[in-house]
Amino acid sequence: MGPRQRGARKRKAEEALGEEQAGKEAEDRRSRRKDCGNKKYIGAHVGIQGGIWKAVDACIEVGGSSFALFLGSQRSWKRPALDQKAADRFREQCILHGFNPAHILPHGSYLMNCGSPKEDVFEKSQALLVEELGRCTILGLNLYNFHPGSSLGSITTEQCVDKIAGAINHAHQQTPVVVTVLENMSGQGSTVGGKFSELKSIIDRVRDQSRVGVCLDTCHAFAAGYDLSAEGGVKAMLNEFDQEVGLHYLRAIHLNDSKGKLGCNLDRHEDIGKGCIGISAFRDIVNEPRLDNIPLILETPGRPGFEYAEQIELLYSFCEKQ
Ligand SMILES: [Zn+2]
Ligand SMILES: [Zn+2]
Repeated sequence: MGPRQRGARKRKAEEALGEEQAGKEAEDRRSRRKDCGNKKYIGAHVGIQGGIWKAVDACIEVGGSSFALFLGSQRSWKRPALDQKAADRFREQCILHGFNPAHILPHGSYLMNCGSPKEDVFEKSQALLVEELGRCTILGLNLYNFHPGSSLGSITTEQCVDKIAGAINHAHQQTPVVVTVLENMSGQGSTVGGKFSELKSIIDRVRDQSRVGVCLDTCHAFAAGYDLSAEGGVKAMLNEFDQEVGLHYLRAIHLNDSKGKLGCNLDRHEDIGKGCIGISAFRDIVNEPRLDNIPLILETPGRPGFEYAEQIELLYSFCEKQ
């Protein structure tokens, strides 16, 4: 079920309750979590149908403390400019409901391949990266998460890494402030970023390293061979990340279980605890102090009775009092 259907179902329930009351309940729930001293910002990738500001409501509806969103249509390279009124409304909603930009993680367009060996695709991707960072600025956001890119098998990984870093450097020159957050990949096909060392190679080539970071996707890491299902697997992965890249670059986590087995290289998300990673890794994640104060974002498919709201509730129930 996509975010649209999920949102529609929740909205119906809310209408019955009275929107104001439902909104207040969601707010109370969020503040209770903060009161208990935990610093975990668990949320989900929410829809923007009907207006970008609606992402904030969608997040509250599922009881999230952080959220991810797309910045526009996933279908077109060229989109109409972001409406200033819509952007203002988004900012107002964030302030009203107490969402800090540090806990909002826009997700880049899937059309982009900043490592593409095809010159036209590379050019369009580079331009879209600049355009998306511009949208972040208009929305008052500081983070921007995207998939590094793919060599399509026709250039070397190193050449691909060069292109990706080149696109990032170009985008940094054209835009202020926003941190470009590279996502680790599952190692499917010729995508770059399955290995932490590849992410480090990109970061090494970025001139302004205060504007580059990493979002670790648990499903992708597991599929790429990092065994989160093992006892102590989360700590081991973070230690390895710290050694190879540096924990100070870690800006977010995508919380997904995996339909595929360890090292399968398949990017197939599963609901929390229902896949090959298993529940104990997620228990460890929500109690891991190195993951305090960063967005922890669900991108799980959801199933009846176990959608974002229930998965967020479950994850919060694992938090031990600090
Ligand atoms: Zn992603
Ligand atoms: Zn994925």
